[in-house]
Amino acid sequence: MAALKDLLTRLIQTDGPMPVSTYMTLCLHHSAHGYYATRPGLGRDFVTAPETSQVFGDLIGLWLAQTWIDLDRPRPLQLAELGPGRGTLMQDALRATGPIDGFHEALTLSLVEASPPLRDIQASRLARYAPTWISDPSNIAPGPTLILGNEYLDCLPARQFVRDGPRWRERVVGYSDTGELAFGLTDDLSDPNGTASAPPQARGFEIQPGLETLVEGLRQRARLGHPFAALLIDYGPSEACPEDTLRAYYDGTQIDPLARPGESDLTVDVDFGRLVRLAKQAGLQVHGPVPQGQFLLALGAEAHLNRLAGSASDGGAALYHGTRMLIDPAEMGTRFKFVCISHALPFKPTGF
Ligand code: SAH
Repeated sequence: MAALKDLLTRLIQTDGPMPVSTYMTLCLHHSAHGYYATRPGLGRDFVTAPETSQVFGDLIGLWLAQTWIDLDRPRPLQLAELGPGRGTLMQDALRATGPIDGFHEALTLSLVEASPPLRDIQASRLARYAPTWISDPSNIAPGPTLILGNEYLDCLPARQFVRDGPRWRERVVGYSDTGELAFGLTDDLSDPNGTASAPPQARGFEIQPGLETLVEGLRQRARLGHPFAALLIDYGPSEACPEDTLRAYYDGTQIDPLARPGESDLTVDVDFGRLVRLAKQAGLQVHGPVPQGQFLLALGAEAHLNRLAGSASDGGAALYHGTRMLIDPAEMGTRFKFVCISHALPFKPTGF
């Protein structure tokens, strides 16, 4: 059970304390003991929007189809999903768009998924759409493209910096006198990556280098000339920069991020403000972010819910409850945001 903890302890003994980002990478993706490699606990450790209500995937399906129609129905269309989990979002989205003339015939589906057990689930649930798995969004074939990612960005490892008077130090994971994993700080770090953009009052800040990698991939894609739109959905602030938002979930409960390495899901808030800045600096179009509740209502969530509820065996009680969770500002409606990063889109995508 404590295999990853032993491995981390040995690594710290030989190499010294590790940045929080390295800790996250090993906990989530170590091939033998990482969380996503061994026991991805979707539905048990945490629940996502598509698993909460079918309305989510259905409406996103309609967004995809509408964007395709507004692009004059290009064929072929590359459709890619980042971190598809159990495949529920794509399954709902594609079922909902079945009746849209020519849409499925135009599609080539690619999935970016790090977890072998989740890839197996996606393979069985999405078999009829003949997906291929690619290691990186930059491997999506050229051509007009739609990209989708729900709760993918929050898994990208974060580095954390803490102000100490005039200096910045990086938060690291080491171990205590009793041999338990423990947070510490590096010695003076005068110019950590990104301090220039740290808010002057901040006591600390968090940076996900993976956001840069993603935007750079999109920038390269834009240079190929074809239009694309990436719809990214996640939680996090759009103005203030996150300080220390590392959290762990185990069995539906938030626990100490160091308590169960490899057995709990690790996540951070996404710095939407930074993502938007990076995308604009790269010359890409940015729409939003808009709060999830607002986006889903703009896409017709209420009417769609009523339609579905009419044929549900429980009169729609479960659907109503799940959809309310997604939209209610006190639940997921405000904290979750939709942002669309695009290139050569001659219109504002629906919902923004
Ligand atoms: N989108 C799904 C699942 C969200 S959980 C849903 O909404 O239900 C996060 C997903 O991202 C999982 O499928 C996880 O395995 C995947 N993931 C996390 N980091 C990844 C990475 N670096 N590369 C590819 N997939 C990753």
